[in-house]
Amino acid sequence: MSLDMIRSIVQQAKKVKSVKTIYFEGGEPFLYFPILVEGARHARRNGFDVGIVTNGYWGVTVDDAKLWLEELKRIGICDLSISSDNLHEYDEDKNSSRAFEAAKELGLPVSVLETRLPSKDSKGDVVFRGRAAKNLAKDYRTVKWSELSECPESLASPGRVHIDSLGWVHVCQGIAVGNICIKPLASIVKSYRPAADPIIGPLIRGGPAELARVHRVRRRQTYADGCELCYECRVKLQEEYSDTLVPDQMYGTYR
Ligand code: SF4
Repeated sequence: MSLDMIRSIVQQAKKVKSVKTIYFEGGEPFLYFPILVEGARHARRNGFDVGIVTNGYWGVTVDDAKLWLEELKRIGICDLSISSDNLHEYDEDKNSSRAFEAAKELGLPVSVLETRLPSKDSKGDVVFRGRAAKNLAKDYRTVKWSELSECPESLASPGRVHIDSLGWVHVCQGIAVGNICIKPLASIVKSYRPAADPIIGPLIRGGPAELARVHRVRRRQTYADGCELCYECRVKLQEEYSDTLVPDQMYGTYR
């Protein structure tokens, strides 16, 4: 995402009074460090609280990690969330732990997002979204599809949205309600009619099971959780609802 685009998002967010905090998430925002720093500075100057989510790959040593963080400390971020991610091989050396330690030593508000696989008999304490639904859920399918009647996101009245590098505004990753390159964020928020939306409406009324029912999606008998069923339905519906189920990358399709 370019700095111009970040500036545009900040300006558009100022026109939506309910937006108080802007998070920089990934991918991995530290891969674009100068843009991250300038984007965070711009958001702070415009009155927003700023949070950042990172996997802490840059924590090669604690002293090095402090160098990465010093400017963010000066800017004044309200949260640094570090994914402690045992599903990725890079972190065998515990870079995320050193990044955490450095943030603590600098007095930054820091927390750890723990990513882990569930036990075989767990139900619902791990959410399988996106690639997790595709690659990890198969060993944990114990719940009957018809019981998956709730979506954990507040789709009727979202407390947050995600904006991707193409400008799509997501209420959950892969479910877009507009694109800020086409329509201002304030207009997207104002015209949000979740109950009438063919994807979001069923999810609100009866969760992923209702989405499958309404669109007569062929499905298995059991799933790891509702998000796996939801993702599977959306993959099958993506071509038909190509204005909402975007971008293609989130569904593993490139047109
Ligand atoms: S059920 Fe679907 S919309 Fe709801 S949180 Fe899971 S993936 Fe997102």
